[in-house]
Formats: sequence, structure tokens, C-alpha cells
Amino acid sequence: MNVDYIIVGLGLAGLAFVKELEKNKKTFVVFENESQNSSLVAGGMYNPVILKRFTPVWNGIEQIETALPFYAELEKQFKKKYHYKVDIYRIFKSIEEQNNWFVASDKPKLSPYMSVDLIQKKYKGIESEYGFGKLVNTGRIDSNQLIKDYRNYLLENNLLIKQEFKHNAIEQKEDGIIYESISAKKIVFCEGFGLKQNPFFNKLPMQEAKGELLTIYAPNLNVDFLVKAAVFVMPLGDNLYKVGATFNWKDKTKVPTKEGKFELVSKLDTFINVPYKIVDHLAGIRPTINDRRPIIGKHPLHTNLAVLNGLGTRGVIIAPTMANMLYNHLEFNAEITSDVSINRFAKLF
Ligand SMILES: Cc1cc2nc3c(=O)[nH]c(=O)nc-3n(C[C@H](O)[C@H](O)[C@H](O)COP(=O)(O)OP(=O)(O)OC[C@H]3O[C@@H](n4cnc5c(N)ncnc54)[C@H](O)[C@@H]3O)c2cc1C
Repeated sequence: MNVDYIIVGLGLAGLAFVKELEKNKKTFVVFENESQNSSLVAGGMYNPVILKRFTPVWNGIEQIETALPFYAELEKQFKKKYHYKVDIYRIFKSIEEQNNWFVASDKPKLSPYMSVDLIQKKYKGIESEYGFGKLVNTGRIDSNQLIKDYRNYLLENNLLIKQEFKHNAIEQKEDGIIYESISAKKIVFCEGFGLKQNPFFNKLPMQEAKGELLTIYAPNLNVDFLVKAAVFVMPLGDNLYKVGATFNWKDKTKVPTKEGKFELVSKLDTFINVPYKIVDHLAGIRPTINDRRPIIGKHPLHTNLAVLNGLGTRGVIIAPTMANMLYNHLEFNAEITSDVSINRFAKLF
């Protein structure tokens, strides 16, 4: 088999890069071994405001503007809904927080997203002594359904090989690579936390963060917006809500734990006071780079090998912008901005 690209990994990063290839009529094959599941368990939320400090997310608005048409295109392709608009209600802990919110909502960049009105209304089941700040033009992408649909579509078209990609089987040639019976011009590694097993890129400073989530059934909590306090409670429909997420920098497994569950329940109980039942408990590892920026580019020594990783806590909005930048770099030598380029870690190779 002769292809332009081999892609390793089909989470949000791999999917976004494959879409670039399809758009540009390049040939490719994808390897996926289900060793990681960050994109399958993700809350899928997007929002351009950091909800702790009320400051803008790095390039958040621009990334959302690129991401929403990208997901709309996928909805058209599969005739399914993946994008749900959901307002976010941030519970204030104090008068000081209310004041900080008003200052932030006055900034021109954030004002389209942060409502200036303090929400004082009481909602059954939610404790909100100091009211809420409301974010609009925010939402979630059902990344689980999207990834599953995309993998099925690739499988049906013989473009997905459900196998572990073995890095030591790569034969490097001047004008490309050979992997088993496949000749390709380039390989793009979109492996998430799997990057740690990749001998070409495992020197990159990944500070992965495990996250756990619950799904709860709460028939008395009748809200159609996301509630954010010590954890988030996101409506999924049918009285189901996703609750998350934890951050754990020590545990490197994707196994849900009783400590994770305890933490989530303890935090949830600080602001939700109606009964609920836990119906699911999931975990995954966020692929985060130590400077909290994604990482894209060619390997400094093996230029037919490239990486797209480090989507961290915001894969939903970052992936389409990074995939487009990497594609233009690999095909047309277009510049990669220094904040996301692999070159910032050149000394490590
Ligand atoms: C609990 C939790 C909640 C989150 N919530 C949100 C959220 O609300 N909003 C948001 O934007 N982001 C969220 N994220 C972050 C988001 O999930 C990640 O940024 C994103 O999924 C990373 O995508 P990826 O494709 O880089 O990695 P992954 O999704 O991990 O995909 C990598 C893929 O590569 C495959 N792979 C690896 N090595 C190999 C190999 N050698 N051979 C074959 N296949 C291989 C893996 O099996 C995997 O499928 C959350 C993450 C977690 C864990």
C-alpha cells in the first residue's frame, strides 16, 4: 500500500488531522489500538473563559471560531448532532467573586460571553447563596459519539487498522518511510498520552493529568444549563448529568478509582441537595505539556515524522486549529507559531 500519510491515533487530534487530509484529497491510513481514551471520556465542553479567575483562555475565542464550523461540517457528513449549545452558570462563592466577574465582563474580549447581570433566581436542588454569573455562546461537543462514528466510517472504507503501531518497525528512507507493507511520505503521531511510548517523541515534557468523571441520574434537578462550582454538572438530557472532573498527576492509569469517585461526590454534595444515583464512572488521561500549550511540528532529526499532541484540557477547541497549522507546515512549509512549535523543545533532541 502506498499512501501520503500514516496517522497514529484517532482521538480528537487524529480526527482533526484526518479531516485536513480528506479535505485536501490526500491518501492515508490510520492506526488505532484503543490504548488511550481521553477523547472518548471528555466532557466535551468549550468556553473561552477560565472559570476560576475569569480571564480569557489562551486563543480561546479564535479557536472556537475555527472549531464550530469544523463540527458543523461533521454533523453534515454523518447527519447527526454533535454540538449542543449550553449556557454555563458559575456559582459565586462570595461578594468578592461577584465583583471580579463584573470587572471581567466589562472587558471587550469577554463581554460577548459573560453576561453582566447577576442571576439571583433560585433553582431547585442547587445551593447558590451569592447567585450565579452566566456565560453564553458556550456548549459541548459529544466527542464520544463523534469519535465512534468517525472510526466506523474509516473502518468501512478500509482506512483504519485496529492495531498497535510499533515504532521500532519504521524504516526511514530519504523521501518517506516504510512500515510493514505500507509506504508513506510522512507519519503524524496523534497518540495522546501514548506519546510516552514513542521513542521519537517521548523526550517532550508531558505532564499528563488523569481525570475522572461521573454520570448521575438526578430526576429532581431540572436544569438545562451547566452548573459550575467545585465541579461541573452538565446536562445530557433524560435527567442524566455528567459530573467532573478530577485532576491527578500521579496515577497514570485510565482506571476509575474509589478515591476519584469520593472526591467527585464530596464536591458535588457541597452545592447539589437533591438525591441522585451514580450510573457511570469513567477516567482518562489528558495529554498536557508542561507549559500548557499544544505541541506540533516535525521531529528535528527525522523530518518525515511529525507530532500533534498536548491538547491538554481543551482538545475540543484546539484540535482543528492545530491540525490545520500542522498540515500547512508539512505540505507548504508554512510557519508554525513559536508558542506551539516543537522547536521550543529542540534542545531535548
Ligand atoms: C476526564 C476528562 C475530561 C475532559 N473534559 C474536556 C472538556 O470538557 N473539553 C475539552 O475540550 N477537553 C476535555 N478533555 C481533554 C480532551 O479529552 C483531550 O484534550 C483530547 O481528548 C486529547 O485528544 P488526543 O487525540 O490528543 O488524545 P487521545 O484522545 O488520548 O487519543 C490518542 C489516541 O491514540 C491512540 N494510540 C496511542 N498510541 C498508539 C499506538 N502506538 N498505536 C495505535 N494507536 C495509538 C490511543 O488509543 C488514542 O485513541 C478532558 C479529558 C479528560 C480525561
